[in-house]
Formats: sequence, C-alpha cells, structure tokens
Amino acid sequence: MTLHIEQFPCLSDNFGVLLHDSASNRTLSIDAPEADAIEKVLKAKGWTLTDIWITHHHADHVQGVAGLRALYPAVKITLPKAESARISAVIGHFDAEVSEGDFVKFGETEARVLETPGHTAGHVVYVFDEENLLFAGDTLFAGGCGRVLETPLPVMWNSLSKLSSLPGEVQVYCGHEYTLANLRFGLSIEPGNVLIQQRLAEVEALRAAGKATLPTTIGLEQATNVFLRADEPAIQSALNMAGADPASVFAEMRERKNKA
Ligand SMILES: [Zn+2]
Repeated sequence: MTLHIEQFPCLSDNFGVLLHDSASNRTLSIDAPEADAIEKVLKAKGWTLTDIWITHHHADHVQGVAGLRALYPAVKITLPKAESARISAVIGHFDAEVSEGDFVKFGETEARVLETPGHTAGHVVYVFDEENLLFAGDTLFAGGCGRVLETPLPVMWNSLSKLSSLPGEVQVYCGHEYTLANLRFGLSIEPGNVLIQQRLAEVEALRAAGKATLPTTIGLEQATNVFLRADEPAIQSALNMAGADPASVFAEMRERKNKA
C-alpha cells in the first residue's frame, strides 16, 4: 500500500497531519487542531476524511472535530480510553477508544497504540511499525518534549524512553513547531554536542525560509534531544548530577526549560 502524508501549519504553531491510503481511499487526520485548515488541504487533494485519531484532550488537538464532522458525517473518531469521557464531553459521539497495545486499522495497514502519560495523564501515540512512522502528539517534539502537566515528572521520562527505544529510522510527526527554541535550550545544557550545533544551524535556516522543521527521526532525536539524553555523562556533569538517576536528570532539565 502507498501512504501519502501531508503536514501543514494550523493555528499559531500547531501542525495538522493527514494520511491518505489510495488503495482503500481512506483519509486520516491525526488530531483536529483546526477544521478550516484541515478542510482546505482535503479539498486541494480531493480526499474525503474518513478517520480522526486523537492523541490527548487539549483543545488545540480536538476543537476541529465538530467542524469536520459537519462536513464528513461518517468520519470515525478514535480517542485515548483514559481521556474519552473528558473529550466526548466536548465533541460528543465517538466510535472507538484505545489504550496500550491496541492496534487501530487504517486501510490495509494498522498502527500500534502506546500510552505516553506526562503531558496529559491519558496521552497516547500511534506507531505504524510497517511504515516506520510515529505520530507523537505533544509527548515528543523535535529537540524537546511536551510540558509535563498531569503526572509526576519521572512518568514522562518513562514515556519518552518508550519512544526513544523505537528504531532510529522511524519518522516522527509532532503536534507543534517548537524546534528552534528546543535546540537553543538543548545547546545551553550540552554546548559541546556538535550534532546539536549543526542541527540548530539547519533549523535556523529552515525557519528563516518559513519552512517546517518536521518530521524528525528517532535516530536524530536520540543524538540531539537532551530530554532523551538524561543518562549521558556530559549532561549529568553539566548539571552537577553525575551518576544520578536519569529520571531526576530529566526532571531537572524539564524544570529549567519551563523557566527558560
Ligand atoms: Zn497538548
């Protein structure tokens, strides 16, 4: 099967992502930040929206559902089980709820659901193992990670470690364009990391040209995302935390980023 993927900006710094499977003629939106922006791309491509998979309950990921359902009444909505009551209070009817280890079909392929609590307590991500694709919502960003709003900080470290253990070639789509600020922060933590220096220069050029810096890959994140590197001796010494538990090193970095 051939998957076509369209990524486009929504709202101020969100991404919309549409997947289209030409064999089954199905089209999937990962989250629904903005109905108008998503409809514009669907129209331009000549695609009919058939599925929406939600990663977490935040308004900038679910507020487009109602508008899209008005245009595509048959669209099937899949929600994270731990947040389905909260989300359906906003969007109404839904079709399926998923949790850790579930598989969701899309045309001839399927995605595996991983629970990644931290940014929200019931956040899920979708992994297409065959196609090497990860839709990470607001858990993992290019060069960074989501704010930890609903769990203790070490829970987010566990969630990020799950994603970091996926194959390096997996392409990662995220909910927001935050790469520039993330890499600047990363370099302040790990100034000797040549790969962060190089990536920051590339990202500055992309942003200056008004271009997106995503998707990224798990391999690039392992090398340049300090939030996945809390077990690195260079980072631990820079924070005066040599030999510390990586979860506490992660927590220290996340707290510093919150104040940055
Ligand atoms: Zn969010």
